[in-house]
Amino acid sequence: MTVPLERVPCYLCGSEAGTAWATENGFDVQRCSGCGLLYVNPRPALATIDKATECGMHRGDETLNVSSRHGGERRVRAYERKLADLYPGDRLRGCSARWLDVGCGHGEFIEALGRASGNTLRVVGSEPNRIKAAAARERGLDVSFRDFDAETQRYDYVSLLNVYSHLPNPPAFLRRLRTLLEPGGEFVLQTGNWAELERSDIGDQLNLPDHLSFASEELVDRALRQAGFDVLSVHRYPVAPRGIVRRVQNAFRRPTGAGTCDLWFRARSTEQV
Ligand SMILES: [Zn+2]
Repeated sequence: MTVPLERVPCYLCGSEAGTAWATENGFDVQRCSGCGLLYVNPRPALATIDKATECGMHRGDETLNVSSRHGGERRVRAYERKLADLYPGDRLRGCSARWLDVGCGHGEFIEALGRASGNTLRVVGSEPNRIKAAAARERGLDVSFRDFDAETQRYDYVSLLNVYSHLPNPPAFLRRLRTLLEPGGEFVLQTGNWAELERSDIGDQLNLPDHLSFASEELVDRALRQAGFDVLSVHRYPVAPRGIVRRVQNAFRRPTGAGTCDLWFRARSTEQV
C-alpha cells in the first residue's frame, strides 16, 4: 500500500496506548486504553483523507468506492420517522428556521425535512463528495461544499448524520459547527455504537479507511461536551442484522437491547457564540 500514513493519539482522551481490535484493507483499528474509543491508527495523512473524501475513493490494499446511490423512498421515510421522534407533535410543521445538513450525501435527510415541515424549512446541504453533491443538485436541492472556516451564515439547526465516523478529529469539527448556530440553536448528530461492541458482534465490513473511528453513546456524549454542547436527548434504534443467518445468531447471542444501534443526539450550545 502506498498511502502516506501518520500515527495519532486518541482524539478524546489524548492517550497513545491501545490494543488491537480489528484489521481490514491494510488498516488497523485499536481500542484506546484510556477511554475505549475505536480508531484507525496509523491513519492516512489529512491531505489524503480530504482528497479521498472529495472523490469518494479511499485507497488501502484495495480501493474502496463509497459514492453509493440515493437511498430511495425507504431511507427518506426512515428519516421522517426519526424526525417525528426527535420533534414530536408536528413541531417542525410550518417552521421557517434555517437548517444546515452537513455531509448531506444524496440529500435524503433534506427531503425528509421538507416533508416534515411542509417545505417551509430553509434547508441547505454541504457535501464534500462531488458525485453526491451533483446528484443532490439534480434533485433540485440546495447542496454545495461549504468551507466552514469562511462561513458567515448562522443557522437555527445544524445536523450531522453518518459523518462522525469519517472525521479525523470530531471534537474540533463539532466546535466549528457550534459557532454556526444561532443563540439557542440545535445540533442533531447521528452515528453508530460500535465501541460498545466486540468485533465479532458486527457482521458488517468496517469500510476502512473511509471510517476512521467508532464511538458509543458515552463517547459521543463526551465529544459533544468537549465541543461545548449540552446533550438534550438521545434516541437509540437497534439495527436489524442483515440476512436470516445473522438474525438468528443475533437472537440467541443478544436477546435484549444490546447489539448494533443507531444513536441520535439532540444538543444545544452551552455558551452563546
Ligand atoms: Zn481515548
